[in-house]
Amino acid sequence: GTQARAVDTVIIGSGPGGYVAAIRAAELGQSVTIVERGNIGGVCLNVGCIPSKALISAGHALHAATHDSPFGLTITGAKLDWEKTQAWKQNTVVNTLTGGVEMLLKKHNVEIIRGEARFNDNQTVNVITSDTSELLEFKHAIIATGSHPIEIPGFKFEGRVVDSTGVLSLPEIPEHLIVIGGGVIGTELAGAYANLGSRITIIEGLPKILNGFDDEMVKVIVSDFKEKGAEIVTSAKAKSVTQDENAVTVTYEAAGEEQTVRGDYVLVSVGRHPNTNNLGLNATDIKLTDRGLIETDNQQQTSVPNIYAIGDVVAGPALAHKASYEGKVTAAAIAGQDVINCAVAIPAVAYTEPELATVGETPDSVKAKGLNAKISKFPFAANGRAITMQSTEGFIRIITDKTSHIVIGGQIVGPGASDLISQLSLAMENGLTSEDISLTIHPHPSLGEAIMDTAELADGLPIHI
Ligand code: FAD
Repeated sequence: GTQARAVDTVIIGSGPGGYVAAIRAAELGQSVTIVERGNIGGVCLNVGCIPSKALISAGHALHAATHDSPFGLTITGAKLDWEKTQAWKQNTVVNTLTGGVEMLLKKHNVEIIRGEARFNDNQTVNVITSDTSELLEFKHAIIATGSHPIEIPGFKFEGRVVDSTGVLSLPEIPEHLIVIGGGVIGTELAGAYANLGSRITIIEGLPKILNGFDDEMVKVIVSDFKEKGAEIVTSAKAKSVTQDENAVTVTYEAAGEEQTVRGDYVLVSVGRHPNTNNLGLNATDIKLTDRGLIETDNQQQTSVPNIYAIGDVVAGPALAHKASYEGKVTAAAIAGQDVINCAVAIPAVAYTEPELATVGETPDSVKAKGLNAKISKFPFAANGRAITMQSTEGFIRIITDKTSHIVIGGQIVGPGASDLISQLSLAMENGLTSEDISLTIHPHPSLGEAIMDTAELADGLPIHI
């Protein structure tokens, strides 16, 4: 019909940006409508963060069971039923979480419309479902449409050439998986399949994989891959691919020479592009950046005052927790609260082996900015809990301001890095000093104790090193 239905706050997309914004907006008294063309939960819950970590867990379990452990444990005949792994990943892991989100949205009386949203102008959005279309006139709109994998010329996603979604649901564990693009997503999935028994070849354009992490951190991951027989080709350019029923052959250029590698699947993970096409943005006064991202101010407001944008469609790291934070800021801004996006710390994690985590300043950024900083580094090899876990690889780094002793950054390579980094984020967000950390009693023995040890090192009063 042409008659517009009046709604309060409409949110396009139900990923970690959109669903969190919806719940918070409802909590703050708004009547909320979510429009979702795919599955509730977005990329993260359905084909991103969550299923990838599920496969990583399965890989850990298989690797541990098929390799002699130092505990005196030998397991014979351990094998994985891939169909069951896939069913567990989908039915137990993904569906539990997406079902949970749907329940939370219902609990908060959020209206969910399954359909494709397209702006008509600055006030209305058209929602197209399989057989109908409805015009919604909104007071406020939040664009949380996320991003999709970039396809490179000559590597059309079909058959054995897969994107990050396809690689999560392969019909079998590949004997040889080729990965083009050694960023976080490519490297994590390569690591999962390495543990599941695949031979791995990573082809990366830059001089190193995991470019967002410094060389001292990445070195640890590269050596783990090497130990597992993986090949990592850097400064390489993937040129073309051919495939038949059973295999793919990738041609790439490295060190000035053309090479080929044959495997059974190739994952192309070279980056993601914001979902700003087909959204009808041309019909609005919303401005995009050169990279196709939606321009926003520090309240996530676009150039149209009643339309906001969050998550992968705006600038900043394409991370779920960053999308959710922006969702909460936006819901509060629409509710008229005096709030801005003032995140000091956005942690980033690679779920590799071992895990990498970073927040705030790094040794490289300290040097580049000429900061008066102290870098303190403590190895997991000196941590009791890590020794009992036979997980002594890696270290914790805390970066403090030399004068105030305030924590301005930190990196963790090692067991539990994804959990431990929150302690440093909390310190940064609250302006805590190394003494604030070192004077806090940490349980013994625990991995977190190594953060206290690193802080003691920053104080100049180390006990365990
Ligand atoms: P999305 O999650 O992309 O959700 C957008 C939603 O909008 C989708 O459901 C889509 O269907 C819907 N939509 C789009 N256009 C329309 C339209 N016109 N009408 C209606 N609906 C529409 N991040 C982390 O922080 N940690 C991780 O461990 C991690 N692992 C990842 C692993 C993989 C394999 C991938 C691919 C990504 C991973 N990410 C991770 C990134 C993370 O998934 C994204 O940063 C996050 O999902 C972005 O959230 P979002 O809400 O902006 O958008």
